[in-house]
Amino acid sequence: MIIKIILLIVAAFAFMEFVAWSNRKYVMHGFLWSLHKNHHLTDIAGKPVMQKNDYFFLIFAAPVIILIIWGLSAGNPYMIAIGAAITLYGFIYFIFHGVVYRQRLPFFTNPKSAYIKALKKAHMAHHKPKNLKDFNNYGLLIFSRRYFK
Ligand SMILES: [Zn+2]
Ligand SMILES: [Zn+2]
Repeated sequence: MIIKIILLIVAAFAFMEFVAWSNRKYVMHGFLWSLHKNHHLTDIAGKPVMQKNDYFFLIFAAPVIILIIWGLSAGNPYMIAIGAAITLYGFIYFIFHGVVYRQRLPFFTNPKSAYIKALKKAHMAHHKPKNLKDFNNYGLLIFSRRYFK
């Protein structure tokens, strides 16, 4: 059972990157553009301001709460595992997007890792695109190899 749970957490975590990508592409840049728009316009690194875009965290928190409470009351470890994986993704997302990229907390201000530097560049490209390819780069943890250059 423990192997199954670990595999489920890894799969759910990977799936969340796909969810985040499609959410950014079809929801944030689609019918909820009104909530995400000012994330592109007023985004200033180092300024810990709340944005309408932060509501998306609440939208993601709801299914997690339901999964964990349901899993606990039904005694279903798989539901709890999926809830935990989504929470972990949310936490990593906050670290990479909120701290590394937007610098809402004073950590990782000068990353040495090539991957983190490329991640910053890739997300910066989405925020302040120079071309359509940059703007259409909707992932967070997975991005084009060209950002490593
Ligand atoms: Zn965007
Ligand atoms: Zn962003």
